[in-house]
Amino acid sequence: MARRWNGWGDDSIEAALPAGGAAFLEERIGAAVPPHDALLAAVLERIAAQPSRLAAMRGVSTDPEARLRASTGQSLGDWLRLRFGRVGRVCDAVAFPESADEVRTLLDAAAAAGAIVLPVGGATSVVGHLAPPEADPRPVLALSTARLRRLLHLDPVAQLATFEAGVAGPDLEAQLRAHGFMLGHYPQSFDYATLGGWVVTRSSGQQSARYGRIEQLFAGGTVCTPTGWLRVPAFPASAAGPDLREWVLGSEGRLGVLTEAAVRVSRLPECERFEAVFLPDWASGEAAVRALAQARLGLSMMRLANAAETLTTLRLAGHAEAIAWLERWLRWRGCGEGKVMLMLGFTGSRDQVSAMRRQARAALRSHGGVSTGALLGRKWQANRFRGVYLRNALWAEGHAVDTMETAVDWPRVPAMVQAMEQAGRDALAAFGERCHAYTHLSHVYPQGSSVYATFVFRIGPDFDAAWARWTALKHAVSEAVVRTGGTISHQHGVGKDHAPWLAAEKGERGMRGIAAMLAHFDPQGLMASGNLMPERGE
Ligand SMILES: Cc1cc2nc3c(=O)[nH]c(=O)nc-3n(C[C@H](O)[C@H](O)[C@H](O)COP(=O)(O)OP(=O)(O)OC[C@H]3O[C@@H](n4cnc5c(N)ncnc54)[C@H](O)[C@@H]3O)c2cc1C
Repeated sequence: MARRWNGWGDDSIEAALPAGGAAFLEERIGAAVPPHDALLAAVLERIAAQPSRLAAMRGVSTDPEARLRASTGQSLGDWLRLRFGRVGRVCDAVAFPESADEVRTLLDAAAAAGAIVLPVGGATSVVGHLAPPEADPRPVLALSTARLRRLLHLDPVAQLATFEAGVAGPDLEAQLRAHGFMLGHYPQSFDYATLGGWVVTRSSGQQSARYGRIEQLFAGGTVCTPTGWLRVPAFPASAAGPDLREWVLGSEGRLGVLTEAAVRVSRLPECERFEAVFLPDWASGEAAVRALAQARLGLSMMRLANAAETLTTLRLAGHAEAIAWLERWLRWRGCGEGKVMLMLGFTGSRDQVSAMRRQARAALRSHGGVSTGALLGRKWQANRFRGVYLRNALWAEGHAVDTMETAVDWPRVPAMVQAMEQAGRDALAAFGERCHAYTHLSHVYPQGSSVYATFVFRIGPDFDAAWARWTALKHAVSEAVVRTGGTISHQHGVGKDHAPWLAAEKGERGMRGIAAMLAHFDPQGLMASGNLMPERGE
């Protein structure tokens, strides 16, 4: 199973864009021209020409491909650099420690060499966490956690599991399942993202409504900081002053390397179901999910796609005849042109699941909801980590895809959807290009919701054109998010791409406080320079 070097996922898995899907996108953004991708060999040749300044360091790899893979995540900016072969700066070497003690030794050696240390988990960041800082002249050591993946301790009575922090989603769940337990943290990047990455980016999984976001699951852990170990004990709850877990959560590699994490696990559930319900329009859909969230029924998931995303999902799904039949039936039931799709998750004992389904259906009926039974839910479940492979297929047709997400309170949700989509369209219009924008609410809470927008546009003829389109879009949508009162990220984190907008919500005093806390553990600014705050020298 080889991982793609310039796209998403396993090299052996291909997704195809259905014929109807290609026509649908062409209608919206125009005919796209498939790009010529750079060859890996050519990119590696260029990296080999950037001599490593850490070649003499013990136990590190200076292999060009290892350096490349440790320096790129999955943001559209990362894709553009890889696909056009314009990789820029990469790390000088990569270390693969096998124990916390080796992490300590590496951090000390990096400090002695005056090198920046960049922890790397599953390299699934979509906000530029892993690009080495351009302006900082110090050498960069990437520290991969790929070999830190053991379950260290499971306490079945307390339902607490302690893992090495480099364990990736499927491996973590398999190790727990062997003992009848599970974590239940399912970001769409589950196949590769790691426990350490989840904690330090404040990740949210598809079923976080049941199991909790990672900040509820993370009970404590150990961080190797440049000035020593920070050990955060796990308590069920504590009133003992500020919570040190909060220093680790969202630290994005700047505090140190999270080597171990204790997480709150659950028994495997008896029953799990997903169901699709359609509603006549956005207003009824939004009112319905708000009512469900505020009724606190205990659903494991509620994802509401707006009309544009619902239509896009149906057109890109293939199976044109079956979809046409479904749409005819939905129209007959009152869900026509502006219909929206709501995917619901139910988890628990059989009795709990049937009680939740009954209550949810009754509530949804009062908003005009039409249930389609379990088929679409089963399809969603089977493809929950596969849908993202479509991005590879879209790129091959000449389409770039980017996503931006935030969270706001309920009164601001409609304005946020509108502001993000419009900002994306306006940004591309400045280049004479069209942008197909659509949105869903991926995580709903009693007080408000996350808002997750997707933008599809033509890549452009060359790197400079594509880069200009992407950065204009990123800038415009980030501005719209902040202007409309949202957080700069609900789940992807800050990295380097969102760093310019962090002060808008933390304030200058708050930013100085964060900087002082980080400097306490890392006075030389060795760790993950450039994430959260502008890099040194800027
Ligand atoms: C297709 C796709 C779908 C996604 N879906 C979701 C989603 O549903 N929900 C969501 O929340 N996110 C999602 N993401 C974003 C991403 O997967 C998360 O941010 C994830 O938490 C990153 O984990 P990682 O192990 O890949 O970290 P990396 O990308 O390797 O690193 C991210 C940051 O964490 C730091 N880091 C990693 N490990 C450690 C460690 N042990 N100690 C200290 N610092 C560390 C790195 O230095 C870096 O700054 C998605 C990404 C993609 C590409």
